[in-house]
Amino acid sequence: MKVLVINCGSSSLKYQLINMENEKVMAKGLVERIGLEGSQLKHQPEGMDKIVIEKPMKDHKDAIKVVLDALLDENHGVIKDMNEISAVGHRVVHGGEKYSGSVLITEDVMKVLEECTHLAPLHNPPNIIGINACKDLMPQTPMVAVFDTAFHQTMPKHAYIYPLPYELYEKHGIRRYGFHGTSHRYVSKVAADLVGKDIKELKIITCHLGNGASVAAIDGGKSIDTSMGFTPLEGLAMGTRCGDIDPAIVTFLQKEENLSYEEVNNLMNKKSGVLGISGVSSDFRDIENAAFDGNERAQLALDVFHYRVKKYIGAYTAAMGGLDVLVFTAGLGENSPETRYEICKNMEYLGIKIDAEKNKVRGKVQEISTEDSRVKVFVIPTNEELMIARDTVEIVNNL
Ligand code: ADP
Repeated sequence: MKVLVINCGSSSLKYQLINMENEKVMAKGLVERIGLEGSQLKHQPEGMDKIVIEKPMKDHKDAIKVVLDALLDENHGVIKDMNEISAVGHRVVHGGEKYSGSVLITEDVMKVLEECTHLAPLHNPPNIIGINACKDLMPQTPMVAVFDTAFHQTMPKHAYIYPLPYELYEKHGIRRYGFHGTSHRYVSKVAADLVGKDIKELKIITCHLGNGASVAAIDGGKSIDTSMGFTPLEGLAMGTRCGDIDPAIVTFLQKEENLSYEEVNNLMNKKSGVLGISGVSSDFRDIENAAFDGNERAQLALDVFHYRVKKYIGAYTAAMGGLDVLVFTAGLGENSPETRYEICKNMEYLGIKIDAEKNKVRGKVQEISTEDSRVKVFVIPTNEELMIARDTVEIVNNL
């Protein structure tokens, strides 16, 4: 069975075609600048050279057409017939309170996705457009929605209710949802396999540290808390997002700087985080290089980032009443030994001890804790696409 995994952003589309017999990626790629000048597809068939196709794509339907053509192309394609694609798995950012797992996409599901749009105004609309475009082009192919929020639906009420008037939760659904759920779910499962224990017996903290970053507390295989909240803005300092700040700063800025709703929103989402502190970049490689060259604000940005991850690890250990496994994943978690070292240092009292030699690893599965570390610490590359494809197979096979 071959599954096409689709992840639509507002002007981009990522895809992977996965052969689920062996879980190997047959081709993957990225369409950028959809609906803009200079739209292009970067297509990487497995074992062949990457190709770039520049072509006007006015919307996501055009983009998916170009992707399907690339997959079917006689030179750089990997399938002969569209019918070889047995199912499509769509990443959907927000499933609200309705979905605690992945679902077959039906008309009713589409209605719920529309209803959730006000909760994720930037993310859900392109996801919906992508699903509709695929439905138009592949009307007979079953499709599954896999939600970023679903894994965190197991959070207890005391973890997801904000101390705001309760009516706002009832009226608008203002509560903590959490994101990156597919990634936290995937790496926690791999970690349990590596430890050789049933996940039900383990207390795991997973740190997804990329441009967007979040930490999750996974007790017995269930997410009981996570650092992102109502939106992906809460929690850690991120590439360009501020994470936890005193909410009074928002009203202060509106008053003192005369900023509008859009301007404050933009400032907190696009101009803050390590970019805002360092003034250098949102990319941690640039910031690490600048800090190495003596740039004090770059060093401060890193210090703030590390400190906040450390605080969440402490908080979630307290929330679970212990810790067995700590996992680092995503761009920075997988590739930056310095980040992992700085976060884990002086945590011996919690049972976390890092082996400097093992911690040099980049981009592959490895235990990085010392033999005598009570908490096992792992680097585990995330694979949200594979998780989406696995869910898709499970649901389609049960039809
Ligand atoms: P997202 O999916 O949220 O865009 P990624 O998980 O791809 O993010 O992570 C991107 C981040 O990972 C970037 O800030 C990048 O600097 C960082 N990163 C990637 N490789 C390295 C590396 N070798 N050293 C330090 N940071 C890295």
